[in-house]
Amino acid sequence: MSSILNPIAKRVLVTGGAGFLGSHLCDRLTDAGHEVICVDNYFTGRRGNVAHLMDKPNFELIRHDVTFPLYVEVDEIYNLACPASPVHYQHDPVQTTKTSVHGAINMLGLAKRTGARIFQASTSEVYGDPVVHPQTESYWGNVNPIGPRSCYDEGKRCAETLFFDYHRQHGVDIKVARIFNTYGPRMHPQDGRVVSNFIMQALKGEDITIFGDGLQTRSFCYADDLVAGFLALMASGPETTGPVNLGNPGEFSMIELAEAVIDLTGSKSTMTHKPLPADDPKQRRPDISFAKSALKWEPKIALRDGLKPTIAYFEMLLRHDFA
Ligand code: NAD
Ligand code: UDP
Repeated sequence: MSSILNPIAKRVLVTGGAGFLGSHLCDRLTDAGHEVICVDNYFTGRRGNVAHLMDKPNFELIRHDVTFPLYVEVDEIYNLACPASPVHYQHDPVQTTKTSVHGAINMLGLAKRTGARIFQASTSEVYGDPVVHPQTESYWGNVNPIGPRSCYDEGKRCAETLFFDYHRQHGVDIKVARIFNTYGPRMHPQDGRVVSNFIMQALKGEDITIFGDGLQTRSFCYADDLVAGFLALMASGPETTGPVNLGNPGEFSMIELAEAVIDLTGSKSTMTHKPLPADDPKQRRPDISFAKSALKWEPKIALRDGLKPTIAYFEMLLRHDFA
């Protein structure tokens, strides 16, 4: 179903394509010459993230909510539509679950009809507050089904279930990635995530808000590394369905992250402690052995190296009053 003008190019749908990760993925796909259809309802994404692609003949932007059916003809689907930060996904929790579950059903239906290969942006949140550390794909997780994070965690878990049932029942060609915390330029400055919060606070000279004792850990992957993982998984053979962990196994406490941000921004900000949000996982680090062996993929960009362009991006937003 490739274009008659360019038989090598694929027609690729990216849902959530105007978001942080989706926009980086659209960059890579358009650069590779594919025909990209970017779908977004702009709940957390912005047209500005893909404005630089609008003049390209192989890029198309459609305002659409994935909880409603979509009729397009495509070869590949990357299903990224879903708010990712706790502040955003808890703003309208019912819509968050609908986006994950109804969105998955609609996109899987599209894949079934068109024969397209379909990628799901799942999450390390399916492991909940893990009692196994680091997390391998075989770990079933420790998730609260009724807490404030459940709309996201359980929505994503149900989406994974749907992906594997469409695969077993209908032979849909699926790729499920479990993404660990990722950062980089085009993160939303007010998304409340720790990297954007700390950088914005440091640049404005405000207190850096450490939730709890700050000894909880996360692993941070730079966006370019992660998108390379998406492409490697999509290009893998049909036997590689996943789920596959994608993330950077470097593990840092929130205090260590704050120290790195203060150092790299040269900020005079100091740290202040605030209460830990409910169900906040104590530790998180991916075991990426499977991605290394099956996809020959591993992240290359160290935290401090990735923080530098991210800080430069937020500085640019502040200069232009976008933040
Ligand atoms: P983001 O909020 O920047 O992007 C999500 C995009 O989806 C936004 O553009 C938003 O407007 C769009 N969207 C939301 N609901 C929609 C709907 N119903 N219909 C159409 N579009 C909709 O977040 P992100 O960080 O780019 O995350 C992208 C995907 O990766 C999400 O599915 C998220 O769950 C997953 N993920 C991200 C991370 C991370 O650290 N960034 C970690 C794990 C998983
Ligand atoms: N966090 C923090 N200060 C902030 C924002 C977040 O200490 O201003 C902590 C948060 O409690 C969590 C970690 O940073 O332990 C990562 O939070 P984030 O919302 O980025 O992602 P998630 O909890 O979904 O991994």
